[in-house]
Amino acid sequence: MDTAVKQSFITEPARQIPQLLETDVIVVGGGTTGPFAAISAARQGKRVVLIERFGSLGGNLTLGLNTKPSGALVGGLPLEIWNLARSVGGAGPDYMAVVKNGGVKIASPCDPETMKMLLTRLCAEAGVQILFETVVSTPLMEGNTVAGVIIENKSGRQFIRGKVVIDCSADADIAVRAGAPFVMGSGGDAKTMQPVSMYFTMDHVDLVKLAAWSRTTDDVPARAIPDTEEGLAYGLWLTGFNKSLRKFQEDTGIKLQRDNITLKTADGRMYVNATRVTNVDVFDPVQFTNAVIECYRQIEGVARYLKERIPGFENARIEAIAPVLGVRETRHVIGEYTLTGEDSVKGPTFEDSIAADASALDIHDPKGADVDFQGLKPYEIPYRCLLPMQIEQLLVAGRCISADHDAHARSRNMPACMATGQAAGIAASVAIDEGVNVRKVSVAKVQEKLRALGMPLHGEEVKGTM
Ligand SMILES: Cc1cc2nc3c(=O)[nH]c(=O)nc-3n(C[C@H](O)[C@H](O)[C@H](O)COP(=O)(O)OP(=O)(O)OC[C@H]3O[C@@H](n4cnc5c(N)ncnc54)[C@H](O)[C@@H]3O)c2cc1C
Repeated sequence: MDTAVKQSFITEPARQIPQLLETDVIVVGGGTTGPFAAISAARQGKRVVLIERFGSLGGNLTLGLNTKPSGALVGGLPLEIWNLARSVGGAGPDYMAVVKNGGVKIASPCDPETMKMLLTRLCAEAGVQILFETVVSTPLMEGNTVAGVIIENKSGRQFIRGKVVIDCSADADIAVRAGAPFVMGSGGDAKTMQPVSMYFTMDHVDLVKLAAWSRTTDDVPARAIPDTEEGLAYGLWLTGFNKSLRKFQEDTGIKLQRDNITLKTADGRMYVNATRVTNVDVFDPVQFTNAVIECYRQIEGVARYLKERIPGFENARIEAIAPVLGVRETRHVIGEYTLTGEDSVKGPTFEDSIAADASALDIHDPKGADVDFQGLKPYEIPYRCLLPMQIEQLLVAGRCISADHDAHARSRNMPACMATGQAAGIAASVAIDEGVNVRKVSVAKVQEKLRALGMPLHGEEVKGTM
C-alpha cells in the first residue's frame, strides 16, 4: 500500500465525554517505567491511576521478552523488585559480562511472567488503581497545564482528572500531544533512530552443551558463561556469532539483517535477540506492521540457523514470539536539560541528580551496522531531564526523557528507565505535598526521599559495576 497518496479527511462530530476518576497522579503506560512511578507515588500516600493499553504490566521488560537490565540495579525500588524476584526463583544472581572494553555488571534477567505478577502485586499493595486495556488518547489541557488525560477503552471515551501526569508511554505520546518540543532520533526521521527488533524464546536447548561450545569458539566474543550447571538457568549471555551467521546466509541464501546476535537465558529458556528492521517510522501503522511481518520472516531464519549450526540447539523449538514489536528509539522530549552523549560517558556531577545509573552503552547502528555494547563508569541523570519545556504539571520518564541520541544509548536501558520512573513518582508526590508545580518542586526534598529508598544519586557512590 502506498502511504504517500493524497490524504482525504473527515470531521469527527464534537461530543461530551464523562469523567471516570479524579486522582493525584496519573501514570501513562504500565511498561518498564510506569509501575515504578506509580508504586513510588502511591507509597508516598498519593492516589495514583496507572493506565496501560495492554492487559499486563512490564512493557518491553515482560511482554517484549527483553527481561535483562543491561547494567546493575544499584538501589531503590528497582533493586527491591529484583530481589523479590530472586526470592521466588524469578531471577538469578547478577553477573559480570565480558565485553569489548572489559567487563560490565549485568543484573540477572528475570522470568517475565514472575515479573508481571510482582509488578501487579506491588501496585495493588500500594493502592494503585490500574486501568488495563485502556489507551490514553490525549491530554486534557487547561492553557499549557496538563489537567488530566482522555482515555479510550471498551466503554468508549472518558476522562480522568489529575494533579500531575507522568508520561511513561516510551514514545512521549502525551507530552507531544500537549505541545512539548521533541526530536526524533538524532534529529531527523526514522533513518536516524536505532532499529526495531522482535524477541523470541526457544526451549529444549541443551545449555550445558551450548556453554561448553561457547568456551571454545572465538565467534562469541562478548559473553558471560557460568561455571555451574545451575548458574546456566539465568546466567548464560552470548553475543556475537558473526562468522557463522554470515556463512549460514551464504550457504542458504536466507538474508538476515544482523551479523551480531544475542542469546541469554532466563529460567532455563533461551531468549533470542536477533531480528532487525532499520528505517521504520513506527508511527505509520503500515510501516509498523510491515516491520512485524519482516521480524516474523527473520525469526524463522534465525531459528533454523541456531538449530542447524549451533551446538545445543539440535532439539530446540520456538516457544514464544513477543506479542509486541521492540522499539528502541523514537521521540526524545526536550526538557529543561538535555543529557548529552558526553555527559553519559564522562559522568559529571549534577546538583539535581535523581539517579546514578550504571547501564552499559548499547547502541544499534541506525543504518544496520554492528552493535556497540560497552561498560562505562556510572553517570548521573538530572531531574531537569524529566521536565518538558513549555508544559506544566507533566513529567516524562523512561526512554523518552530529555537525552540526545548518544546519551539515550545508556538512558534507554532498563535500569535507567526504572530509576527515572521512581524519581518521577517521588517528585510528583513531593510537589503535591508542597502545593507547587513539579517545575518548582524542592529537588533537595525529592533527593532526600530517594536516598531514603536506598537510591544512589552520584556516580562515585556506585562501585563494582565494571
Ligand atoms: C529489542 C530490544 C532489546 C533491548 N534490550 C535491552 C537490554 O538487553 N537491556 C536493557 O536494559 N534494555 C534493553 N532495551 C531497552 C529497554 O528495554 C527499553 O528502552 C525500555 O524497556 C523502555 O521502557 P519504557 O517504560 O520507556 O517503555 P515500555 O517498556 O515500552 O513501556 C511503555 C508502556 O506504555 C504503554 N503505552 C504506550 N502508549 C500508551 C498509551 N497511549 N496509552 C496507554 N498505554 C500506553 C505500552 O503498552 C507499554 O506497556 C531493549 C529494547 C529493545 C526494543
